[in-house]
Amino acid sequence: MLSSPVLVLNLNYEPINVCNARRALLLIFRGKAELLENGRGQVRSATQVFDLPCIIRLVYMVKRPFVKRKLSKKEVLLRDRHTCQYCGQRNLELTMDHVRPRRQGGTQTWENIVSACIPCNHRKAGRTPQQAGMKLLKVPKAPYPSPYYVLHGRTILDEWKKFIPWEIG
Ligand SMILES: [Zn+2]
Repeated sequence: MLSSPVLVLNLNYEPINVCNARRALLLIFRGKAELLENGRGQVRSATQVFDLPCIIRLVYMVKRPFVKRKLSKKEVLLRDRHTCQYCGQRNLELTMDHVRPRRQGGTQTWENIVSACIPCNHRKAGRTPQQAGMKLLKVPKAPYPSPYYVLHGRTILDEWKKFIPWEIG
């Protein structure tokens, strides 16, 4: 129970992190956060009973550092929503495709790497999309630094949804 996920809101109610219940309780005890929602019953120590938090809110404003998203397969898949950028199919095994192939001077950058299913990657082979007669679903770009980035790839609990204004993922 102490490892259950807790949504951490900034002073302005913006989601800023997800931590576990143990850490959330510590933040509350230290006066750094308040319990906003208790969805998970109670825990007992030797002498006390505590509400198990589900959502907490920091009592001070945390400035969010601008996190530049590092190029990795995991991040590219998230940006492309696990969708092959050529045929649009989801739920396939995806590979990383260099839009302009490396041997044609293609770089390892957000603008030149897309998710591609294995058949599309084979079909395209060492060619540009134009040369292969294939079309990208969209122009690849570095992902916009969304304030809700911390929630990407996480299971969003129902109780959290009112603090998350749009669908993520
Ligand atoms: Zn495909």
